[in-house]
Amino acid sequence: MSDHFPLDRRSLLFGGASLALTSLAPNIAWATSLGGNPFTLGVAAGDPWPDGFVIWTRLALAPLGENGGMAMAAYPVRYEVAEDEHFRRIVRQGDVLARPEMGHSVHVELAGLQPSRPYHYRFFTGSEASPHGIARTAPAISAQVDRVRIALAGCQNYEQGLYTAYRHLAQEDAVDAVFHYGDYIYEGRAREGAIRPHVGDEIYTISDYRRRYAQYKSDPDLQAAHASAAFIMSFDDHEVDNNWAANIDQDLTPPEYFAYRRAAAFQAWYENLPVRRSQLPKANHVQMYRRLDYGRSLRMHVLDTRQYRTDQICGATGRETRPCSTAPLASGSILGAAQETWLGEGLSSAHQWNLLAQQVMVMPLLYPEQRAAGRFNMDSWSGYPTSRQKLVQQIKERNLSNVVIATGDVHSHHAGHLPSIEGDFNSPAAATEFVATSISSAGNGKEGTRRWGNMAQENPHCLLNLDKRGYQILDFEEKQLVAKIQVVDEVEAAGGHVRKAAKFHVDNRNPQLNSI
Ligand code: FE
Ligand code: CA
Repeated sequence: MSDHFPLDRRSLLFGGASLALTSLAPNIAWATSLGGNPFTLGVAAGDPWPDGFVIWTRLALAPLGENGGMAMAAYPVRYEVAEDEHFRRIVRQGDVLARPEMGHSVHVELAGLQPSRPYHYRFFTGSEASPHGIARTAPAISAQVDRVRIALAGCQNYEQGLYTAYRHLAQEDAVDAVFHYGDYIYEGRAREGAIRPHVGDEIYTISDYRRRYAQYKSDPDLQAAHASAAFIMSFDDHEVDNNWAANIDQDLTPPEYFAYRRAAAFQAWYENLPVRRSQLPKANHVQMYRRLDYGRSLRMHVLDTRQYRTDQICGATGRETRPCSTAPLASGSILGAAQETWLGEGLSSAHQWNLLAQQVMVMPLLYPEQRAAGRFNMDSWSGYPTSRQKLVQQIKERNLSNVVIATGDVHSHHAGHLPSIEGDFNSPAAATEFVATSISSAGNGKEGTRRWGNMAQENPHCLLNLDKRGYQILDFEEKQLVAKIQVVDEVEAAGGHVRKAAKFHVDNRNPQLNSI
């Protein structure tokens, strides 16, 4: 079903609804004057494919007000897509409805565009215009591409820091897409002393989640990042609740009750992000895992490490002092059987690179403070060693040397190797993993060894441990990958600067990280 509706442009612009039209769509807000500009949450694009991408916006005259300050009616929204920034060469346009059922959001899937080129887009409703966004289509399926530039970003706790890293990311040159590894919002209540506190209590209902997204999305640096490139969205835990696993939350709420909260969270996730219609929640499920191809260069497998996982053992962190059996580790799964099979079907040497774009660390990481207990982060793949061994086996069976993993979650930069033998950090690498830090979560952080001491000695397979905010830029070229680790010096006050903290390259015939 399309969101387009069969009205001609004049009836929209002049409010000339005929009887026939109003009976087709009885609850349309026809007013041409809204009393303000409702594009307060910016615009966004997502999931590029060779002839299009998603464009998104959401109307909110008063982002933090009841129903975003909008009437509970459908608003006609016009979109325009152009080859040039002045919108002289418009190549696509149309009318859609921003429906109250969907928080007055619109998602348009564009088609018929040229591959491998940037397009400009904008929206109108009544007499009001949105800011402009820009996004690039993916290359044609069989195209040989010199470079695909993917940025990694996520973990953007609004209370703990400014989005200065996003402002710098928005200025990066020629980004094909930003992979977002989750924690786009955080669900907690307002904390005293926060740099900019959340509005309201911990979030549970659809109105709560909508308002939380509205608060986050009001940020101009986040809007600038969205306007600068398409985002490939996923979600991790905080879009719903800390450390949730399938139908289980961390407070052990009966699953039949937690299901209501999760449904509200999923709906708000869809409404607020530039995702495809195939990601519209159905029966309290989001089809989040999916593939995106960039010519012959890159196949991106976006994974879902939340919806199908078995529950974490030992209270997720592994730091709990209560006695805890590790016996369930062997039977646990982080992807679930169906997704694991799907991943195996799509992993091949048909592309120069395979990128597993996902949420929580795959390679083991032993924090010195956990050494005595021998415990890892049970919310990461380390809590699901059977799944990790299965992944290594899938890579080996296919003889792949071109698997790269992109991760977030831990609020620090890491880069390392996924060991091919479980439990042996010095075994040959099965894949390389780039763990991007947070945009703002955990505040300024500290270079050096604040929490870590001899981290490097404990983890010979991990070449980078850096507790600062920022993002990463991965350039996939025909034979090599170049990774740039970007760090922002200050997020607790305005004006932070960005700098390159490290750089690596990887050859796609040998999954070995090299510092440059
Ligand atoms: Fe986070
Ligand atoms: Ca997380």
